[in-house]
Amino acid sequence: MGQSFGDFDDLLAANREFAATFDLSGFDGIAHAGVAIVTCMDSRLDPLNMVGLKPGDAKIFRNPGGRVTPQALEALVLGAHLLHVERILVVPHTRCAMSASTEQELRDKIGASAGVDADWQFFSVVEDQLAALEEDIQRVRTHPLIPNSVLVGGFMYDVDTGLLEQKL
Ligand SMILES: [Zn+2]
Repeated sequence: MGQSFGDFDDLLAANREFAATFDLSGFDGIAHAGVAIVTCMDSRLDPLNMVGLKPGDAKIFRNPGGRVTPQALEALVLGAHLLHVERILVVPHTRCAMSASTEQELRDKIGASAGVDADWQFFSVVEDQLAALEEDIQRVRTHPLIPNSVLVGGFMYDVDTGLLEQKL
């Protein structure tokens, strides 16, 4: 089974509808609400809506688990200095796949799905979400290029209730 350009037609059709009423042109790329959010790639999360923001308001960085990785720090440094970020939220969530398995279990599952060995693949599993959040918040707060004036909070998002709870 090869792939063809037509494989994305449904999404492109939806995009043309989106563009028909598009009103975000001429927008700059700064965070108009002064907010940056680091959160998980999980499809149950809607990072802007969960805190009452809209496109243009915030910088969003997502990865498996919502971890403060070197690339997340890169985004936050850019955000703090060039994009008007004044508050940073780090938001892992309940029932996250990255804290439901060990790295070996994930490697086994992916290996079985792929039909090839996956033991070389790094997966950023989280054993203790709160301990990881604490580490991540420290990483942001102690980063030499993130000013002390930037406020940093650690939160847990509940995928069953939609509620955010501040932990740090
Ligand atoms: Zn997750």
